[in-house]
Amino acid sequence: MTKNIPNILLIYTGGTIGMIKDPETGALRAFDFDNLLIRIPELKLLDCNIKTTSFKEPIDSSNMESKYWVEIAEIIERNYDTCDGFVVLHGSDTMSYTASVLSFMLEHLAKPVIFTGSQLPIGDLRTDAKENLITSIQVASLQHYNKPIIKEVCLYFEYKLYRANRTTKINAEHFEAFASLNYPDLAESGVHLKVNNEYLFKPNQRKNLIVHKALDENIALIKLFPGISEQLLRSIFNAPNLKGVILETYGAGNCTTQDWFVTLLKETINNGVHIINVTQCSGGSVMMGQYETSEKLKKIGVISGKDITTEAAVSKLMYLLAQDISPKLFKTIYETALRGEMS
Ligand code: ASP
Repeated sequence: MTKNIPNILLIYTGGTIGMIKDPETGALRAFDFDNLLIRIPELKLLDCNIKTTSFKEPIDSSNMESKYWVEIAEIIERNYDTCDGFVVLHGSDTMSYTASVLSFMLEHLAKPVIFTGSQLPIGDLRTDAKENLITSIQVASLQHYNKPIIKEVCLYFEYKLYRANRTTKINAEHFEAFASLNYPDLAESGVHLKVNNEYLFKPNQRKNLIVHKALDENIALIKLFPGISEQLLRSIFNAPNLKGVILETYGAGNCTTQDWFVTLLKETINNGVHIINVTQCSGGSVMMGQYETSEKLKKIGVISGKDITTEAAVSKLMYLLAQDISPKLFKTIYETALRGEMS
């Protein structure tokens, strides 16, 4: 069998990786893509064909919006048949959100989509951008019998490949900016690139890619804190068009047992709003019913987010709310792992 030279599409959305310092203010701002490529002549040495495309106006990922998620999904859709893998250059601030939502938008994905970026711009002497970019392209190019080895949305940063919808940005300073506390690394880059095959997502290969472009943003994300008031929560739950709430609770999914709180949640669920229980802890899982302080939530129909990250919980909620799912089935589907996002 002759070896296929993989075609990789590099998609530049913005982020520190391609930024330069504004000479007047000293603040970092997005730069154009051609300048970025000139700074990495090493790309020519890689064993793949690289095509590139870029957002017309690259953004700092803190300006991320769902229209950009659709734009990334559409770029992948247009190039899906002719490319063997995709590398998305993205700012690290909201990378876990974008990469998580793309994992839901791209149903039956059977090729690698690797998100990466960097903590220092590519032009900086001490940059982490080159290693992140070069290894991401190598990961996207990995093949076995001319078929991609990775068939899911991943995030590569500082020598580690993660399942994207399991990641969280944990550090604004260290090069190791991301963690996947509830799922093992998919690969590690040392002297060799070691892929942990047993942890890779195995999609149904007989199905064709479906790109879901509808997302419903009528949701709220609430982090509980001791002393949170009924008035505040009521005003959020009464927001017009609210359809779903991610409730970040304590520990294994616990919260206050005060009557007003449980009654308010019950009323909200009865009004057709889905409430998902996600833990504030970076690692571990919601286990409703383990303590008295979560038993009531289980009884009133709160959905368990299990060990999902907040980023994946938000994305999954936007994705599922835009699907035509009956209110009765919603809880069961949300509690099912769709793209390996929960255990
Ligand atoms: N603010 C930047 C962004 O998210 C940070 C980064 O790229 O690391 O676009």
